[in-house]
Amino acid sequence: MAFVSMTNMLTQAKHDHYAVAQFNINGLLWIQAILETAEQQKTPIIVAVSDRMVEYLGGFECIYQMVLTTQKKLKITVPVALHLDHGATVEHCLQAIDAGFSSVMFDGSHSPIIENIKNTKVVCDYAKNKGVSVEAEVGTVGGNEDGLIGGINYADFDECIKLVEETKVNALAAALGSVHGKYSGSGPKLGFKEMERLNNHLTIPLVLHGASGIPVEQLKKCIQLGHAKINFNTELVTTWADSVRKTIQENPQVCEPRLIMLPAKQALIEKMTNIIQIIGSANRI
Ligand SMILES: [Zn+2]
Repeated sequence: MAFVSMTNMLTQAKHDHYAVAQFNINGLLWIQAILETAEQQKTPIIVAVSDRMVEYLGGFECIYQMVLTTQKKLKITVPVALHLDHGATVEHCLQAIDAGFSSVMFDGSHSPIIENIKNTKVVCDYAKNKGVSVEAEVGTVGGNEDGLIGGINYADFDECIKLVEETKVNALAAALGSVHGKYSGSGPKLGFKEMERLNNHLTIPLVLHGASGIPVEQLKKCIQLGHAKINFNTELVTTWADSVRKTIQENPQVCEPRLIMLPAKQALIEKMTNIIQIIGSANRI
């Protein structure tokens, strides 16, 4: 397999108390920026595609080929997982696996827990035979969760344990107060007590969604309490948009996309390098 599952990289990260970054792609330039940064920093990396972006990016096969070809062209040697983020249906997860993705998230968190467990198990059973890792979600991350806007709904402890036991999922996103998008008012209110209890009862790693805007000290506490995968998206798209705006404002005559996009790529690399160093995954390979 061209890509590796998340299982080994996250097991190692949890054991050594650091976290692996998940960065979502929005086109070829993003793939290059993520892979170049991971190689420079000697870190395992999770290249993810949000379910809602799949069609925009040309479909699962096209995404697979773009990442694979770029990985070869750049002679990437660090472990790369190609991951579907917030897979909305069982079918989408199976399609991603069939296309060559090495990891998928099935997000059944908006359904009743019985249905979430049932569907997550279908994905897990299919993935297992192919060496593909699966992430599940319990509770609701606040803000805009891949198109679904809602409040924070803390993950229920018993539901988390039940889902993990019955599905044998590889990683769990237990929503404990984080938000997709920007935090408002006094910032994040993470449930560290709940996190600690869950971590004491689970052997699999936890996944933190909506990490952009969480203070560094709190991120580190999440890592100490079992989070081995942290998803960053909002601060990357903000960094990209700020750079594009700045280039166009400072050079109103510029038309060539390359001249607008390359500074944005550099800005992304700097931001991702900073994140990788904060969460401790640099120089692990
Ligand atoms: Zn998320």
